[in-house]
Amino acid sequence: MEQLSDSLRLQREDEGQRLRLLSRTDMVSFCNRIAFLAETGVFGAHHRVNVIRYVRKIVNRIRVMGLTGPGEVLEGLPADFALSVEDIPDEPEDTEAGRDLPDEVMRELCDNLDLLEKNSNREFRVATELLIDTGRRPDEISTLPWDCLAKDPDGTLVMVYDNSKNYRLGRRLPIAQATAAVITAQQERVRERFPDTPTSKLKLLPSPVANPAGTKPIGSIGEAHRAWVDDLPDIMMPVVVLVDGQLVTKMLPFDKSRIFPYAYRHSFAQRHADSDIAPDVLMDLMDHRELSTTQAYYRVSQERRREAVDRVTALQFDRRGNRVWRKAQGMLDSEHVRRAIGEVATAYGICLEPHNVAAGGQSCPIRFRCVGCDHFRTDVSYLPDLERYLSDLLRSRERLMSAFEADDWARSEAMPSEEEIRRVRRLINRVKADLDDLSEEERAQIEEAVALVRRSRPVMLGMPRVGQPLPDVRPWRLP
Ligand code: SF4
Repeated sequence: MEQLSDSLRLQREDEGQRLRLLSRTDMVSFCNRIAFLAETGVFGAHHRVNVIRYVRKIVNRIRVMGLTGPGEVLEGLPADFALSVEDIPDEPEDTEAGRDLPDEVMRELCDNLDLLEKNSNREFRVATELLIDTGRRPDEISTLPWDCLAKDPDGTLVMVYDNSKNYRLGRRLPIAQATAAVITAQQERVRERFPDTPTSKLKLLPSPVANPAGTKPIGSIGEAHRAWVDDLPDIMMPVVVLVDGQLVTKMLPFDKSRIFPYAYRHSFAQRHADSDIAPDVLMDLMDHRELSTTQAYYRVSQERRREAVDRVTALQFDRRGNRVWRKAQGMLDSEHVRRAIGEVATAYGICLEPHNVAAGGQSCPIRFRCVGCDHFRTDVSYLPDLERYLSDLLRSRERLMSAFEADDWARSEAMPSEEEIRRVRRLINRVKADLDDLSEEERAQIEEAVALVRRSRPVMLGMPRVGQPLPDVRPWRLP
């Protein structure tokens, strides 16, 4: 209330003394001032939320108590001198961006979900799977109702949940088919366990204790989750450390204290930010009210991507498989920008041919025979694409050699040449040989960088860019 008084004193000519002249505009100015103070570090983000929430509560209470009525102390205070629930800013995330879990760690955790179920119970396992897949807060998952699965009018599967931290109920999050399958299996299980309770009263994750009707949700999963993580073998990760004044990469166990339920929310946000999902889409996915909360993930994303690009382009090759040497210490900012505008993606590398670049990759004069073109470069991150291209060539040659009905000229023009096949093979072998020359630690670092670079890469081969689907948080998951 002191902050509100300060705001009125500083922002109004009458310093807020004339009650009848106060209005909604003064409350908006108050909110802006509080946001400014939080942004400039006068107080923290949590304090900002608390101030707005508290003032809203007090102003509401003043009205409920009738203190604005005739003869009362605040007689004449206008009704629009008030704060709505939408004025309360997003709760800051529990930890700052950058606390996401690396892919290797996520994979290890997903591979060991059976152990979590064995050590605790099925509900904790399902809760953890949903935390990983949906990036919701732990309490949003543990309190899910039984009928949380729905479809939007366009057929998209959504999970309906309450963002109780920010008082936003019935939120709809698009989910993957595999996540919907996790929910459906759990629904069936709960239905069997509590056949007499109406589904509208059931919880998706009912507490295993003192819960005869299945209407009480599981409590915090933190304890069971911690015990499970502590039981897992060490997860080794490449880490750069200083030894005798030299930076060296060592394989060290990942710090398990960083694996806690909220970290899945950060991993979810970071994976989407790394995939170049538009900030406003990510803001919706995270159910943030303010873009600034979401934007923290983009800053981290850009820095990480820059490092990863530096790392993979250090292993770049021309069409003959010769290494194109680059400075080992990352590229300058201007080089990153130049690269961004001076090249265009092809199916298994990049094209530097100016006309084709200017045409966004739609104007290749030799119909994308990149392995025979001087303007072509590839790097280690394209290895899977090169291998896929080689099998496409071999498959297509086989089909054309069989009884495929086509005129001779069309058949012979479409037939992949022996030379092209030979060159693609040679390029693949060169990239692999260079990878083999790396130490185990260097290879692990390159693999990590490749995963990050590939996540944000457009798909291109003289064809329009395909629409960008939401990334799967668990791409290695079996169907
Ligand atoms: S063949 Fe490939 S590298 Fe050469 S101009 Fe065409 S797209 Fe660019």
